[in-house]
Amino acid sequence: MTEYDIVVIGGGSGSQVATAAADSGLEAAVIERGPLGGACITRGCVPSKALIHRADVAEELRRAPEIGLDAALEGVAYAEITSSIRDWVYERAARQERSLEEADGVALYRGEGRFVDERTLAVDSNGDETDGDVPDPIRGDHVVVAVGSRPLIPPIDGLGAVDFLTSDDALFLDERPDSIVIVGGGYIGAELGYFFGALGADVSLIGRSDVLVPREDGAISEFVTESLERYCDVYAGHEAAAVEAEDGGVVVTAERGENGDGEDESPDGEGRGESVDLEADRLLLATGRRPNTDTLDLEETGVETDGRGYVETDSILETACDGVWALGDVLGEQPFKHAADYEARVVAANVLEDAGHEVEYEAMPRAIFTSPQVASVGETEDELENADREYESTTVPFDVAPLGVVLEVDGFVKVLASPNGEILGCHVVGPQASILIQEVVVAMERGSGTVDDVAKPVHVHPALSEVVYAAFDELSSNRYSTAPDWRDVGG
Ligand SMILES: Cc1cc2nc3c(=O)[nH]c(=O)nc-3n(C[C@H](O)[C@H](O)[C@H](O)COP(=O)(O)OP(=O)(O)OC[C@H]3O[C@@H](n4cnc5c(N)ncnc54)[C@H](O)[C@@H]3O)c2cc1C
Repeated sequence: MTEYDIVVIGGGSGSQVATAAADSGLEAAVIERGPLGGACITRGCVPSKALIHRADVAEELRRAPEIGLDAALEGVAYAEITSSIRDWVYERAARQERSLEEADGVALYRGEGRFVDERTLAVDSNGDETDGDVPDPIRGDHVVVAVGSRPLIPPIDGLGAVDFLTSDDALFLDERPDSIVIVGGGYIGAELGYFFGALGADVSLIGRSDVLVPREDGAISEFVTESLERYCDVYAGHEAAAVEAEDGGVVVTAERGENGDGEDESPDGEGRGESVDLEADRLLLATGRRPNTDTLDLEETGVETDGRGYVETDSILETACDGVWALGDVLGEQPFKHAADYEARVVAANVLEDAGHEVEYEAMPRAIFTSPQVASVGETEDELENADREYESTTVPFDVAPLGVVLEVDGFVKVLASPNGEILGCHVVGPQASILIQEVVVAMERGSGTVDDVAKPVHVHPALSEVVYAAFDELSSNRYSTAPDWRDVGG
């Protein structure tokens, strides 16, 4: 049996712990069954944003005549788009694999890892061994579980008899479907609904809650729901109850769920009553994720999971088993690449330096790349209400800032702060939201975490960051405000 200082199962964010260990002079191993880089590179963040970039450009072209530019979207070379993105991301994954293989101090095991005991792992090869040899188990002084998650398939009547897509295969279709039903109103469903809709497909988007992206602040969720109606027929408050194959396509019966508000929300009136049948060429399930812990034989270890299979850890990310750590989607805490990377840093410090760093999620941002974009950090207003916390709130539209007026964009920045000025949450919907949120994250993480940390520094004029400035300025102690307010000019 080969022994390592550290063995990482999962070559997504977890591989960064292995390379950090190797950089510190230790011997590390990574077990990975698929492309290196994890979900992010080949079936998550990167390809989905590459597609959404095309959707954004298509939208700009459609709007061009409004600003005196003679341009039009004359066609979409769909197969070329998806194949070029697929080739590019798989090339990135291959490069990552090569660089891991070439790195001193890291051994790459290709195959499915599973526990034999608390620190020993068997690797079931991907079937490419020619001599039938089964690799010996490997052992680590430390083991990191970083196996990520995969699409969750919900129990829907008739699903076994129809073809359906998940985000794993919807990103690289050879042909754009003329019509598609997307089940799931979370961020993946919303992003893909925007993408397919902006590229001309008829999209029906079914979300269980009364609004899409229901985990966001209520004002944001409502805004996104309304905005996405430009691209999709939105069936919020509905549940996909049954599916059936028909004429080479699919019919989805969406029933108004118990979270529905009882009002007809379908744009064409079809949804009146209890249920509506939605016909489409393709069906895409974006109904959440489940952790990849079910094949790890965790019962051979003392690692504990919750009822849904997510790994439980303490605040320094160590599991119930000494020397066994976990990070990323498998924790079920913050299902984002940047969160997994942050957790990889925490685990690296705790394993390599015994640093005892605790994870802190207060300043963990998140973003949704719909049109308009969404980005948030901290608490939502509902969370503050439910926790009975005192807070002040302000909401400032994008046309407060000159560039907001020039670009003629919709959106707002909402700030939630305690009466003494501590930032409790910030929610942005509008262009560049994913960038605009960053200064708030820095203020919460590195500054004193007050509204003044954002409102006092000088902001570039005329940039959209002036919207953030104006919002924080309203709650700040600035005596002589110079924050822009172009709302009247814009009108
Ligand atoms: C469509 C989509 C869009 C997304 N967009 C964004 C975004 O814009 N921004 C963002 O922050 N996040 C986004 N995410 C989420 C992001 O991809 C994940 O949060 C992130 O990849 C989690 O990293 P991880 O290392 O925990 O897991 P992964 O990246 O999934 O890595 C886990 C790895 O473990 C491997 N593995 C699993 N089991 C075993 C085993 N038994 N043996 C060997 N290997 C195993 C898997 O093959 C995988 O490579 C998106 C996800 C999806 C699906």
